[in-house]
Amino acid sequence: MSHIYNFSAGPAVLPKEVLQQASEELLDWHGSGMSVMEMSHRSKEFMSIAEKAENDFRELMGIPENYKVLFLQSGASSQFAMVPMNLLRGRQDADYIYTGQWSQKAIKEAKKYCSVNVAASSEDANFTYAPNQHDWKLNPNAAYVHYTPNETIGGVEFNWIPDLTDKNNNIPLVADMSSTILSRPLDVTKFGLIYAGAQKNIGPAGLTVVIIREDLMGITLPGTPTMYDYKIHADNHSMYNTPPTYALYITGLVLTWLKKLGGLTAVERINITKANLLYELLDSSDFYHCPVAKPDRSRMNVPFTLKDSALDKEFLKQAESHGLIQLKGHRSVGGMRASIYNAMPIEGVNTLVSFMKEFANNHA
Ligand SMILES: *Cc1c(COP(=O)(O)O)cnc(C)c1O
Repeated sequence: MSHIYNFSAGPAVLPKEVLQQASEELLDWHGSGMSVMEMSHRSKEFMSIAEKAENDFRELMGIPENYKVLFLQSGASSQFAMVPMNLLRGRQDADYIYTGQWSQKAIKEAKKYCSVNVAASSEDANFTYAPNQHDWKLNPNAAYVHYTPNETIGGVEFNWIPDLTDKNNNIPLVADMSSTILSRPLDVTKFGLIYAGAQKNIGPAGLTVVIIREDLMGITLPGTPTMYDYKIHADNHSMYNTPPTYALYITGLVLTWLKKLGGLTAVERINITKANLLYELLDSSDFYHCPVAKPDRSRMNVPFTLKDSALDKEFLKQAESHGLIQLKGHRSVGGMRASIYNAMPIEGVNTLVSFMKEFANNHA
């Protein structure tokens, strides 16, 4: 098997060590005689897997006691509805920051349940920057403020956390962290709720993680399905129904791997190094271009274009023959996108950078 570096935006690359361990344990987990896939979610074996995953996740992210961690299903996309259903708590308004396609989807869904105030938008520059908090027009009656710290498609990342503590009556901050969670240390106390689909930076598809401050649970919109009620899941330790057991198990292995790397401070350092390698090449070259404003560039998803888009096909073809796959940009924006999540080794980025230099030289 030739070596492949997978730059997919999600489902995305997983650490080799994790897949190796999973393959060793596939048929017989720790002498249980069973695969994790075959275990009852209420068995003591699986309960120990779930408990360790939650503890490691809490430790890595420094999650305080008054926050619940929920292991759910149905993707970040379901959170677009679940957030308003649970967090409106009798109010009619919510603030949203509009920075690209994922926040747009969140806004569209929220409009089914409340009046959405788009407090800031980067539409004026084709979603290539993160609007400064000074320019946010927040509604003092909003039930919460929702934003997307990393727009996976546009490659725009907030390298700062909005501060809603003193002003605006402590309105809870809600973040869709699908493509940035676990990539850097985070002060969880700044947030009311954080959610993320697992398939970018946590583990396999099928698991959705929610971190929620306890006091925000318990009041849902009339008609809210039982499965969309955070409190039901919290009260049942994410075992109200069958959780995505195997995805959670793999996630546990990823979390152990992150701890071995040295935790999120060490991971952040590696991520900065990897992102800089790519952005330095993009900025020093006339051949490539990155459309995103420098301070707001994503460490996880790096979009770029070629000088001549007629070369796109050839670029992708030659990249693939170098073992560099899934570099095509999202169909809506074109160009290229390299997703370099935690599990992308630095060798993968180095290989990509070398290839890009060579390609530029050959086509200048
Ligand atoms: C991928 C992604 C989603 C959608 O996730 P699903 O789990 O497929 O629903 C939502 N928001 C962001 C920021 C994403 O990157």
